[in-house]
Amino acid sequence: MLAGTLSETLQRLDNAAKAAHRPVPRLLAVSKLKPAADIAALAAAGQRAFGENYVQEAQAKVAELAGLGLEWHLIGHLQSNKAELAAQLFDWVQTVDRPKLVTALGSARPVDRPPLKVLIQVNVDDEAGKHGCRPEQVDALAAAIAGQPGLSLRGLMAIPTPHADIERRRPAFRCMRELFDDLAARHRQVDTLSMGMSDDFAVAIAEGATMVRIGTALFGARPPKPQGIPA
Ligand SMILES: *Cc1c(COP(=O)(O)O)cnc(C)c1O
Repeated sequence: MLAGTLSETLQRLDNAAKAAHRPVPRLLAVSKLKPAADIAALAAAGQRAFGENYVQEAQAKVAELAGLGLEWHLIGHLQSNKAELAAQLFDWVQTVDRPKLVTALGSARPVDRPPLKVLIQVNVDDEAGKHGCRPEQVDALAAAIAGQPGLSLRGLMAIPTPHADIERRRPAFRCMRELFDDLAARHRQVDTLSMGMSDDFAVAIAEGATMVRIGTALFGARPPKPQGIPA
């Protein structure tokens, strides 16, 4: 069942990219609040990259599925006191948004592992109370990341305001692509612009996403987040 949904989703990404004359983006399968068995089923169908939001939930799944050669991305907000565990567990952290996290992740990355790939999360709509740095803070954070041998800066990530009218999300995606092009011009290894989810990936792809993060369209609706699940 999940194998069929995966090939349908890959086909939809392909169609969206063709329609917009853009390269086909990478698919990150967002598996938060879904059981390890679902991840194993998608892995058996060929999916490699998975996104998780909660460090402790991810820790259990990474342990259970060790040996499958999966690539784990943290896409949820990261508290500084969980940075050490995150630096050991994940291959990518997409939610770096403040200098303190850069230092904490950089110093905690085990030296026998390749550098941790990181994306800077941008609060592109400048919404009060939302995670992500302001667009004008990207340069300083990028410089801080470049100074950490344990980290490798790969690009930017955003979760635009979820306007019900999907077209109203387009300007935020476009703004992200401009920030991304500026950053890539200054940092050679920057190649990833992570934006677009189940309901808006076509617009994100049209505006230049290189990675889309898709949960619901792949795995079905999620259970509500249980009370008290630690971030
Ligand atoms: C949950 C989540 C997604 C996936 O959302 P869907 O609408 O289920 O595709 C993508 N990105 C982030 C940061 C998320 O937290």
